[in-house]
Amino acid sequence: MIRVSDMGTMINSNKARWLRLKRHFTESFTGDLLPRKHAGNEGHVDEQREKRRRSAYRYIFLLLAVTLLPIVANNFYIGQHLLAVAALVLLGLLVVDIVRTSLHREALLSPPVVVGMCLGLAILSMYLGQLYSLYLLFPLLVSLPVMFQTRWAITLGVVVAGAAAPVVLTHFDLTTAFVIGISTVLTWLVSAWLVYAMTEQSRRLKNMAITDSLTGAFNRRYLELQALRALQDWERNRRSVSLLLLDIDHFKSINDEFGHDVGDAALKSLVSLIKERIRGVDTLCRYGGEEFVLLLSETTAVQAKIVANQLRRAVEEAQLLPRGPMTISVGVCDLMQVPDLENWFRFADAALYSAKDLGRNRVELAEPQAGQLSATVTVLNNAAVG
Ligand code: GH3
Ligand code: MG
Ligand code: MG
Repeated sequence: MIRVSDMGTMINSNKARWLRLKRHFTESFTGDLLPRKHAGNEGHVDEQREKRRRSAYRYIFLLLAVTLLPIVANNFYIGQHLLAVAALVLLGLLVVDIVRTSLHREALLSPPVVVGMCLGLAILSMYLGQLYSLYLLFPLLVSLPVMFQTRWAITLGVVVAGAAAPVVLTHFDLTTAFVIGISTVLTWLVSAWLVYAMTEQSRRLKNMAITDSLTGAFNRRYLELQALRALQDWERNRRSVSLLLLDIDHFKSINDEFGHDVGDAALKSLVSLIKERIRGVDTLCRYGGEEFVLLLSETTAVQAKIVANQLRRAVEEAQLLPRGPMTISVGVCDLMQVPDLENWFRFADAALYSAKDLGRNRVELAEPQAGQLSATVTVLNNAAVG
């Protein structure tokens, strides 16, 4: 007998399932991302994108496998062994790929290769008089926008249509050929639309994973990637990047005096102000709380100090608070001055501390002393060897 409490759970889980389905459907057609519990969790976002890619491939493999089955059976039945074996091998590969993608592993044969092989088989079968192979074209057309970039999907679609047209026109009357033509084009268009929506979702998920949700600046994770890239660029091309570590002065008292909301609004305005004044190649990231890191491409520490002072003055003059000015202190360190990422951030931080010590609302250059730096490097090397 079902108890009342069990009924409640069933209704709730059915409702959750229905809501999930509704969300899935809305997102698939519009590309919008509806709010979800783990949206802010960066690792989860990446995992989510990977899962979506694999399930899209799995659907395509499944569609192709189902359509291939009768082709295999019929070819064995009529004794067309070459086609039968080819279709069977393809079917086997598809089954392996379905299993692998279900187990969250990479497909054995790259999906575009599988699609290419199925396409070949469909065209060959049709030329050998097996008109029902035409049905294989439908899942193949669905798969084209999923597997290939738009221009390749269009090119292949046109090639397939070109190859299929003579067979269709010689074996069917004009009305039937017209209906087949229209339905294949519609299949392709719906698939292209769904892929557009999925790509749009992926783009939004990617942006969510690298953006700080309050200010719109990049987040710390993106900063780590960019800093590593900067170091590699320096090692390869000797193109230096400057790091500016910015911290708002007395932000605690700003929160205390005006409230947290005004504090939040000030953080947002600070980010917009800085973004308006930097180049497209520069990167502004929220380092944490009211601290920001600005990476200036191909800029020496001396040039970066000039930029930092311009920003500092702009912030002071911008009236970001209801009353009185808001100021920032900045520590600057050039990648040329330091041997590794850890020291780069460490010395920028030390410079920021000097700026605070020297009275705030100022910019200080890092001065990694030769002795200090080599001592650090020795300690790090010893640690690595140990
Ligand atoms: P200093 O000049 O030495 O930097 O003084 P400070 O008061 O700014 O000191 P500190 O940097 O330690 O203070 C950081 C404060 O920033 C503490 C915290 O309440 C506030 N804060 C951190 N994140 C946020 C946020 O997202 N919104 C708001 N409104 N406040 C934040
Ligand atoms: Mg501060
Ligand atoms: Mg701080």
